[in-house]
Amino acid sequence: MLRFALYSALALLLAGAGILWFVRREAHESAEQELTKDASRAATYLAHELEPADLEAPITAPARLNALDTLFAPERAEGVVRVKLWRPDGTITYSTDHSLIGSHVEADELSEVLAGEPVREIGRLNDEGGTGENIKVLSAYVPLTLAGDSRPRGVLEFYNDYAPVEARVAGALKPVAIALLLALLLLFASLFPILHQVTKALEHRNRRLEQQAAELEQTLTERRQAVAGLREAETRYRTLVEQLPLVTYIDRLDAWSSTIFTSPQIETILGYSVQEWTDDPQFFPKVLHPDDRERVLAQHAEAYRTGESFSSQYRMLAKDGRAVWFEDVVTIVKDESGTPVQAQGFRLDITHRKATEVALSESEERFRTLVGNVPGVIFRCEIDSDWTMEFLSDEIEDLVGYPASDFISNRARTFTSIVHPQDASLLETEVEAAVKEDRPYTTEYRVVHRDGTIRNVVERGQAVLTRDGGLMLDGAIFDITARRQGENERLKLAAIVESSGDAIMTASLEGVLTSWNSGAERIFGYTAEEVLGQPLTMLAPPDRPAEPREYFEKVLDGEALSGVETVRRRKDGSLIDVSFTYSPLRDAAGAVVGASAVAQDITERRKAAAERERLVHELASQNEQLRELDRLKDEFVALVSHELRTPLTSIRGYLELVLEGEGGDLTDEQRKFLGVVERNAHRLLALVGDLLFLAQVEAGKLSLEIGAVDLSALAAESVETARPIAEEKGVTLTLASGPLPLLPGDRSRLGQLLDNLVSNGIKFTPSGGRVDVRVRNERDAAVVEVRDTGMGIAAAEQEHLFERFFRTSKATEQAIPGTGLGLAISKAIVHAHSGRITVASDEKTGSTFRVALPIRQAQPAAAEIEQVAL
Ligand code: ADP
Repeated sequence: MLRFALYSALALLLAGAGILWFVRREAHESAEQELTKDASRAATYLAHELEPADLEAPITAPARLNALDTLFAPERAEGVVRVKLWRPDGTITYSTDHSLIGSHVEADELSEVLAGEPVREIGRLNDEGGTGENIKVLSAYVPLTLAGDSRPRGVLEFYNDYAPVEARVAGALKPVAIALLLALLLLFASLFPILHQVTKALEHRNRRLEQQAAELEQTLTERRQAVAGLREAETRYRTLVEQLPLVTYIDRLDAWSSTIFTSPQIETILGYSVQEWTDDPQFFPKVLHPDDRERVLAQHAEAYRTGESFSSQYRMLAKDGRAVWFEDVVTIVKDESGTPVQAQGFRLDITHRKATEVALSESEERFRTLVGNVPGVIFRCEIDSDWTMEFLSDEIEDLVGYPASDFISNRARTFTSIVHPQDASLLETEVEAAVKEDRPYTTEYRVVHRDGTIRNVVERGQAVLTRDGGLMLDGAIFDITARRQGENERLKLAAIVESSGDAIMTASLEGVLTSWNSGAERIFGYTAEEVLGQPLTMLAPPDRPAEPREYFEKVLDGEALSGVETVRRRKDGSLIDVSFTYSPLRDAAGAVVGASAVAQDITERRKAAAERERLVHELASQNEQLRELDRLKDEFVALVSHELRTPLTSIRGYLELVLEGEGGDLTDEQRKFLGVVERNAHRLLALVGDLLFLAQVEAGKLSLEIGAVDLSALAAESVETARPIAEEKGVTLTLASGPLPLLPGDRSRLGQLLDNLVSNGIKFTPSGGRVDVRVRNERDAAVVEVRDTGMGIAAAEQEHLFERFFRTSKATEQAIPGTGLGLAISKAIVHAHSGRITVASDEKTGSTFRVALPIRQAQPAAAEIEQVAL
């Protein structure tokens, strides 16, 4: 950029200088012309003052010299520093410098001037001699035509001082130069951004050009290399072709593929001359190996028919009897109409290749059989994070469910992908360490089978150096899942045996103890060291020394004995009750090799069994006693109740009479006392009634008088009966009943039931509380709910609520009167109607008794009713 700016500045400067030079030249020209014109004008008017003699001979006369000096004085005053008069032959006839008069100069200009044209010349004042300062001058030669003459008689020369001319030119040039400089500067400044851009574009283009040049160079180099390579390949190929045991030939398309031409190599390979081939049309079939002949001729015939080229491999028999393998590439040559005309091709001796192939396939086959017979996966892989497989035996499919081909070159999956994620890094570290130390390794890890199961494997391998110098890993992987599981099972069993509380032991065929667990140690007191190797009879009780042996013999015969209860002797001599289970021990082939025995200490069990028996006996007899007592009590209650009812009825009868005044008037006090007697008699009668009812139930003799009952009406009656008591106590009593069909039942018993529930509600609800009775139809049942806000019943006591004589602890504590018979009777009534009575209660909110009676109920048979019992 800078360079470019410099260049353009220089160019502009040059242009400026050129312009200046031109202007200067023009200025000089015009100044000089003017001077010359002045000279011509002066010559015209001076001609009148000059005489022909002035030009004929050098003037020597002082008078004339003076006159001429005076004549030219005004000129001299105007910058003419010297005047000369020339005779046409070059002699100076006059000069203001008198020393020059008479001198002769060969001045070429003169003849030109004399022809009429003024001439000017720049030089030094004294170039042609003279005195004074030798200043720069412009000399103007003008023709001098005197008055009366028609042609110039001589030449007048004025020497003008050149300094004023130069000063004038310089004066004229200065503003021009300044203006020019400014213009140039302006131009340069306005050019600069354009220049800048242009330069950038140019630079960019330059770079691109350079790049292209480099690329071109590269391409050229490559092409040169390619050409060289091609040439080299060509040479190589030619040498190769020339050295190949290759036979070219042309055959006829006949049944024997008779030879038209064959190249002479055939002789070297098979030993037959070319002549032999071409002379005998059936030569080819003759030398074909008998095993291949039919196939090859058929192939040829087929190709000749279809016109399709082909290649085949077959053997020919050499002259010396050797079989030589050929690769034959046959091309069918066709004419313009496409009809096959002849066959041509080449035969390549591939005997060696065949032999190698066979050897190779044999060795590969051997290797495969070998690998196939190894009970594991054989592999060769790269030592990379995928374990990229180069070879992997088919066994892998059994192990992980994917074919070996999946893993070769990571085609479908990597080997790492089937290694258990938790083991992958361990495998890598172990292999890496072994590779680093150049030693074989054995490592165990898990692989994940396609079906998701996990297999344990052990891998043995080692890094090997391949032929091309790389490192690969060769190794084998064995499935040890079964072994691992076996081990695990064995360990589990051993742990079970060891932790068992029972004595577990085994004995060999000889009857010698071979294993002894900690249970045995605890039960019999001997440690394993003390008994192993000892005869099993060492545990026999003193009175039956041979017993263990007897059982043992039976087991060895294949019999399994279980639950044999007997006695054994402990280490401390004490006897212990045990239960034995014996079984034979068999080896893998099923042969009995010993026996195992499991013994349980049954001392405790025996004791417990005896105790249990005793208790059962005791309980049975207690039960019997209780049942008898109960029966007696029931009988007694029934009897007493019955016996009480008659006198009580009579007491009430008479009381009524007395109170009605039949026995005379009563004082108020007497009436009050008798009132108390009557109430108590009434309560007593009710109690007796209850007892008798329950006795009936108990005896299974409850009878109902079934009719159609309106439960809503019955509930209303109960509520109304109870209302005075409720009001007296300050308990709000309400009834809500919906429409209800009539239901079959005993009206008075159901009334008794409702009375009981409503009166209980009021009785166990303190003043200010409420009792709400609701009667409604619920699906197939008539439901009565008596809800109170009373004292409630503790959860633990609720299950006894319907038992005879049961009263809650709260009721007893608060001395709320009652017998504990009401709910038992209620339950009996409900059950007799095939209904259900339930209670929901807690001590904060109160109790709700709920009775559900079936509506569409068959008339219960009397027998059924009688069976209803508590
Ligand atoms: P009684 O009412 O004569 O004691 P019941 O058989 O009718 O006999 O009731 C048995 C017991 O059940 C009562 O003593 C009482 O403890 C409890 N009980 C019955 N109904 C209620 C109730 N509505 N609220 C609280 N406790 C009750």
